[in-house]
Amino acid sequence: MPEINRKTAIKTIKILAAVLLVIFTLAIEYLPGTPSWDDIYAAAGLRTKTIKDFSLSDLTVVYLDVGQGDCEFIYTKSTAILIDTGPFGNAQKIKDLLRDFGLTGINYLIITHQHDDHIGSLSDLEDMIEIENRIIPDENTKMSGITLTLPVDDEEDMTLQFLGPVYKNDSLNNMSLVIKLTYKEMSFLFTGDAEADEEGTLLRTYDAEVLHSDVLKVGHHGSDSSSTPAFVSAVAPRYAVISVGADNDYGHPSQSVLTTLSSAEVHRTDLEGTIICTTDGSALTFYNTK
Ligand SMILES: [Zn+2]
Repeated sequence: MPEINRKTAIKTIKILAAVLLVIFTLAIEYLPGTPSWDDIYAAAGLRTKTIKDFSLSDLTVVYLDVGQGDCEFIYTKSTAILIDTGPFGNAQKIKDLLRDFGLTGINYLIITHQHDDHIGSLSDLEDMIEIENRIIPDENTKMSGITLTLPVDDEEDMTLQFLGPVYKNDSLNNMSLVIKLTYKEMSFLFTGDAEADEEGTLLRTYDAEVLHSDVLKVGHHGSDSSSTPAFVSAVAPRYAVISVGADNDYGHPSQSVLTTLSSAEVHRTDLEGTIICTTDGSALTFYNTK
């Protein structure tokens, strides 16, 4: 093929490919009954997407792998919330996560309780990102009864219901904020390091339907001081996420807790790295990063 014709042919193929890509993209986005990007990724057997892809979902919850500690990120088009920062040394990782979502800051920072494995990276993080609102309880803070209604997009809202702590407790773990996130039919429970004492109070205070959540962030890194059978049975989670460091000194998660959780699909940050859950309000999809 003469050089000039070869170049023209390559150019034509490139244009054709670009046009086909645009048609394919438009078809996926707009035609009724066509698969979503989540469907396509699942069909292709892909369990890892780039973080940017998750911003296509209505609601994304990230359980960030911060080693032995807790850090969860809740993202919608209109609201970004961080629950806990993990131990010292994770600020850059959190900043990178936000950057992957196109963010330089968050609307809400919520700390469940002031133990280092939950608040340790806050002072570094405060120098790195913008934080609009802070909810940082001390040993006397009781948040139960408060509900925040926050936007998912221009039309839909989600709620953040503070269930605990209900009463003052001498143990800071049992003063952990317990928060239920609800979007349409789906709900997520964040329990910090709440132990049997606080779980018992929640059971006595609320009907099981209030406690019921589709996804449970397992209390206290899977320690056997938490996740009593009565509490887990009231929450009745379909999915349970344990945020825990690999080979940690505490032996978390405990085998008895794993047994209690046996009716749920369990995800662990020590085994899967950062865990990501996306939802449109009616179905849940989990991804891991290892
Ligand atoms: Zn902890």
